[in-house]
Amino acid sequence: MSYLYQIICDRCPHTSEVQWPLWACYSLASGYTLEIAQRLCWCHNCNGVRIAESLAGIEHIERLQNLPIIKNAYDGEPKTWSEDEKKTVLDYVRYPRLNHLYNHFTHWKRWDVRQSVIMKNSLALHHDWLIGRTMLPCCLTCGGTEFLPFSADDQEVPASALHPHCGGAISFIPLRKIREKRYLWSSEGEPIGIG
Ligand SMILES: [Zn+2]
Ligand SMILES: [Zn+2]
Repeated sequence: MSYLYQIICDRCPHTSEVQWPLWACYSLASGYTLEIAQRLCWCHNCNGVRIAESLAGIEHIERLQNLPIIKNAYDGEPKTWSEDEKKTVLDYVRYPRLNHLYNHFTHWKRWDVRQSVIMKNSLALHHDWLIGRTMLPCCLTCGGTEFLPFSADDQEVPASALHPHCGGAISFIPLRKIREKRYLWSSEGEPIGIG
């Protein structure tokens, strides 16, 4: 579920709003869509809290692809996810957020061969896209590459974050749920629109 958050600062009058997380995908040349790994940031160009894409290291993706439960997804043998494998996958989808995968794993609460196949296919797309990507990660609103990424804890939004203008602490206050629309970007992060 996506929420509209109000942003306030404890040291200055700054206030703004951000929708988090987005249903955000790359529209790939192959015709597939790939979820964007998104995180909250302070964008210096937008001068506000925005969502930026995050580029994982290729080794991180390959480590996930080599988990036995994912690597052997199609071999037809019965599988049991280990607690470590579940945790590794949940960490990958939580933050930076892969929103629909995150919802899938947290709402279904099932771990069987379907989850292995979904992960294997998603990671293959993610891997190929990452190899072809040339631009730096950017703000999904303005395309700027100068931003301060926020980290999030298990609460899925930052409990608080630094406001670079004044050194105060930014808080996120949920205002209301928002019905998600799918937004598309090119594989280099240029906005395409709703689709
Ligand atoms: Zn401030
Ligand atoms: Zn921006």
